[in-house]
Amino acid sequence: MEIISYLVYLVASILFIFGMKKLGSPKTARQGNFLSALGMFLAIVITLFDQHVLTYEYIILGLVVGSAIGALLAIKVSMTGMPQMVGLLNGFGGGASALVALAEFYNILNHQGRVFELSTSITIILSILIGAVTFTGSFIAFGKLQGFVTGKVVKYPMQNPLNVILFIAVIALGVVVVLDPNNTINYVYIILGISLLLGVLLVLPIGGADMPVAISLLNSYSGLAASMTGFVLKNNMLIIAGALVGASGIILTIIMCKGMNRSLMNVVLGGWADAGSGGDSSTGAGPQGDVKSVDAEEAAMIFDSAQSVIIVPGYGMAVAQAQHAIRDLMNVLEKKNINVRFAIHPVAGRMPGHMNVLLAEAQVPYDKLYALEDINDDFNNTDVVLVIGANDVVNPAARNDKNSPIYGMPILNVDYAKTVIINKRSMNVGYAGIQNELFFYPNSLMYFGDAKEAIAKLTNELKEL
Ligand code: NDP
Repeated sequence: MEIISYLVYLVASILFIFGMKKLGSPKTARQGNFLSALGMFLAIVITLFDQHVLTYEYIILGLVVGSAIGALLAIKVSMTGMPQMVGLLNGFGGGASALVALAEFYNILNHQGRVFELSTSITIILSILIGAVTFTGSFIAFGKLQGFVTGKVVKYPMQNPLNVILFIAVIALGVVVVLDPNNTINYVYIILGISLLLGVLLVLPIGGADMPVAISLLNSYSGLAASMTGFVLKNNMLIIAGALVGASGIILTIIMCKGMNRSLMNVVLGGWADAGSGGDSSTGAGPQGDVKSVDAEEAAMIFDSAQSVIIVPGYGMAVAQAQHAIRDLMNVLEKKNINVRFAIHPVAGRMPGHMNVLLAEAQVPYDKLYALEDINDDFNNTDVVLVIGANDVVNPAARNDKNSPIYGMPILNVDYAKTVIINKRSMNVGYAGIQNELFFYPNSLMYFGDAKEAIAKLTNELKEL
């Protein structure tokens, strides 16, 4: 049996790796999801057989209840609520790793003839530390995004020294436990308690605006915790799966930080103070004054005489669920022999790949979606750019204004096009909480309205021309 379970775990690990590879492109992402789910299914089945489970009632009950909650959440949660959903799932993953490690500690303690190997006791402590930090940290992150916990940057006295002292305390207690695991169970509980507290203290100072990055980092931690638990249980598949989550989480975190031109330290220490709190309309140093606006009919006439159009979607498209309306607009433009492409900024929306997922859902062909580096030089030769619910990712202050909080962030150079039509509901700021000088440029035209309705109106007007 042992050899069979090893083989099945190996197959499951390979399925995870291939699944992950296929998630790299929207074309193969569904297949990738399926392969990974199949790997997890095989892993669960073989674990249940291999562990000589005596009674399956609780396991089946757990599977049914868990699957029902999972299915309900998958159907109910909107794409804009996905970061907090992922946050919650990370938290459960971290909590599970900590509990499994604690259970294994007890197992060894209470089993005559079993002794603590050095590597096992070290990984148990690390599992509890990382798992517990992930657990409470993720719940605070969830609370901040959901509005249960203040989204503001929370500063408290001795913030960094306190965290360093607590961390050193965990490590010191961990060393004591590792040296004498048989008589230090109370220390394990203290380690668990401090780690839970650390999770709260580390995430509380991070502003709500930076929470998606923090969640991606916590995702990476939950992978690390699972990997450590793999070492505790001597389960290769768990080690590999945890390492995959840990590595992909940290890569995603780096991509997000680069897209925002921020350092990880700046995010973790509560950098963009009150960004994302909305409402603040602080202005930049660029042009200001009156903006020019157009209605649907005028906008349609501009599109009708264009030969090339680039559509730049942002968070507002997601909020308005305007992706289907945009696909209809694309179809009408193409019927008129106008070349239509989409420019996707790496941090448009509220999570990486946000725009790609929505546009794929609306059946916009993948080959029409261009990444920033592949399309940024083409704006010069473009007749009309349509910005839909995007703000920060097209703000030229990131290039021009050294004092702007987003200075240095790579942006889509939409202002280089002949005409830029910007659809949003008002002059309100975006996520970074700063006014956008693009709106005041001579080649910019505001087209106010909710994205879904406004784009549908524009499409109807175009059809009539
Ligand atoms: P922004 O948040 O900068 O702007 C979105 C704009 O959409 C708002 O100005 C709003 O203006 C408009 N809007 C809202 N609702 C609607 C609607 N129903 N119809 C039309 N417009 C609407 O979005 P971007 O996508 O440009 O930028 C993303 C921001 O999020 C960046 O600052 C990025 O750093 C940050 N971020 C991204 C993450 C990611 O992974 N993608 C993670 C964390 C942060 P109005 O209210 O006037 O309509």
